[in-house]
Amino acid sequence: MNILTLLLAVLPVLGGPDARLQVRLSDDGGRLRYEIAYDGKTLVKPSLLGLQTNEADYTRLEVLSADTQELRDTYVLDRIKASRIDHPAVRTVLHCQNPEGRKLDIEWHLTANDAAFRYRIPREGETGSVRVLRETSAFRFPEGTTGFLTPQSDAMIGWKRSKPSYEETYRLDVPLAERSHYGHGFTFPCLFRVGGDGWVLLSETGVDSRYCASHISDYDPQEGYTIAFPMPEENNGNGTVEPAFALPGVTPWRTLTVGADLAPVVETTIAFDVVEPRYQTTRAYRYGKSTWSWIVWQDASMNEADQIAFIDLAAAMGWPYILIDAGWDQEFGHAGMEKLVGYARSKGVDVFLWYASSGWWNDIVQSPVNVMCDPIERKPEMRWLERIGVKGVKVDFFGGDKQETMRLYEAILSDADDHGLMCIFHGATLPRGWERMYPNYVGSEAVLASENMVFGQYQCDIESQNAALHPFLRNTVGSMEFGGVFLNKRLTRANGAPGRGGRVFGTQRRTTDAAELAVAVLYQNAIQNFAITPNNLTDAPAAAIDFLREVPTTWDETRLIDGYPGRNIVLARRQGATWYVAAINADEEPLKLDVKAIEARLGGSATVLSTGKDGLQRGPAPKKPLSIPKDDGAVLIVR
Ligand code: CA
Repeated sequence: MNILTLLLAVLPVLGGPDARLQVRLSDDGGRLRYEIAYDGKTLVKPSLLGLQTNEADYTRLEVLSADTQELRDTYVLDRIKASRIDHPAVRTVLHCQNPEGRKLDIEWHLTANDAAFRYRIPREGETGSVRVLRETSAFRFPEGTTGFLTPQSDAMIGWKRSKPSYEETYRLDVPLAERSHYGHGFTFPCLFRVGGDGWVLLSETGVDSRYCASHISDYDPQEGYTIAFPMPEENNGNGTVEPAFALPGVTPWRTLTVGADLAPVVETTIAFDVVEPRYQTTRAYRYGKSTWSWIVWQDASMNEADQIAFIDLAAAMGWPYILIDAGWDQEFGHAGMEKLVGYARSKGVDVFLWYASSGWWNDIVQSPVNVMCDPIERKPEMRWLERIGVKGVKVDFFGGDKQETMRLYEAILSDADDHGLMCIFHGATLPRGWERMYPNYVGSEAVLASENMVFGQYQCDIESQNAALHPFLRNTVGSMEFGGVFLNKRLTRANGAPGRGGRVFGTQRRTTDAAELAVAVLYQNAIQNFAITPNNLTDAPAAAIDFLREVPTTWDETRLIDGYPGRNIVLARRQGATWYVAAINADEEPLKLDVKAIEARLGGSATVLSTGKDGLQRGPAPKKPLSIPKDDGAVLIVR
């Protein structure tokens, strides 16, 4: 027996709490690899572990010993798809060293369907900090695996040079060999179908001011996908791409959610399980629904009459919020805004205000600008926001994934909490565990969101495809502030009424009203800025308006009933004793929805919102399964 097999013999196999999930470690000539199997089937092939800092090279590692601890992930979180998390987990720390004897721990956190790992670098001797030059952490998949992927954008391109803004299109079921559109790899999360053997959702969590956000490279035939750091060009070239932290310190968690089917992918809470709150709050934050004029009425609506119309709409809906978007400072000034906020509050409606993050890493002209990026400007502004009773800010147009941008997100959140302000981020990266890390964080865009349905027809044409995709992917690892649910048929103020020269303007919604109501459940964000307009109170079906008054924005439980990413989905979310089951179909083939079977499964009787011959209808469960054609949907309220 040679040295190599001796080492192999002592490498542990890590098992999840129910032993269906296994992580096997192997020594590949001094390089450490992990492999993930579920029900005995390999879902991740032997893939490299390791990283390199400016102080030590940890790409060659030997495992000296391992500590394993059984624990439970138990916590309450009021802003995501599940409110009480309580499941067993196994934490294993691999104590490793490199050939020079420098120590490194690799921590693995395994649940029934998740495997997460991160690196912990100890303090050895005088050295108190490190810069990470690269990570070799890799992800190799079996032959025939296909991916559901969105590309990492070039920096400093697009609208006012504001990219990357994490607003790219998805490629569905594509081979691993497919190159990313910009050549920079793919944005988290990434979903993989390992033939008929199972599914893998790959993401990261626990990114804060002490690291950069990462993505994955294009697929290398030998080593697969590798963790990739931001591009130097991001943030207009300002700030390093090499994250640095104090010792002892940790990297973010890389998370792999695996299963034989898609339920674990949709129901996972791993993004929240392994992170801790960064600070405690003394404030009570209230979540709910909001109007915003900008999405359909656009820039021209930044005037008093229109903002009052949307405040009154929120009041008529019984919704707690209005979001007043870009340009409010130029139209109203701070004094005028104080009056408008006072009017809103007299109607029982609280206010979110929009800010650009900065003008030093893009060419943004929408204002206010250069306030949220600057702690000196931010301080009096947030005091003023609190004094006039504003409840939250929407900060837009961030500069990418560098550590200095992560510091800005965290600084804004921390200061905002001092003033009782919730934070929504747009033009922003994926949130990585932030719902649990920051008590006043309430959602990010990080998706090609509703505005693109107003700007161009194509996103309207694929609306149902997106609604059948995001619950499996973007929205399963973090809140998604999409800003959708349109009841206008044309996404303009005129809503199809002829304009100049008798022409009808605007993009055209392809979905039924029932499908739009399904979107209100399929997309999850604690604050939902819905895209309805004042005319919908009279021109939309009363059943739709009643449903939008009622539908919750936070959930106690989420269960996948059926579906395939980008084709169709049937998703159940529970608040209290009531289940809201949303279905949407993006496929040419009709989706069969057996309401009786769902009633039996969830235990209750259903009220059904579906499309009848005269449009949206509300009624009891039909005896025969509903047949839902392309771009149609349904909502079942099961009590
Ligand atoms: Ca945007």
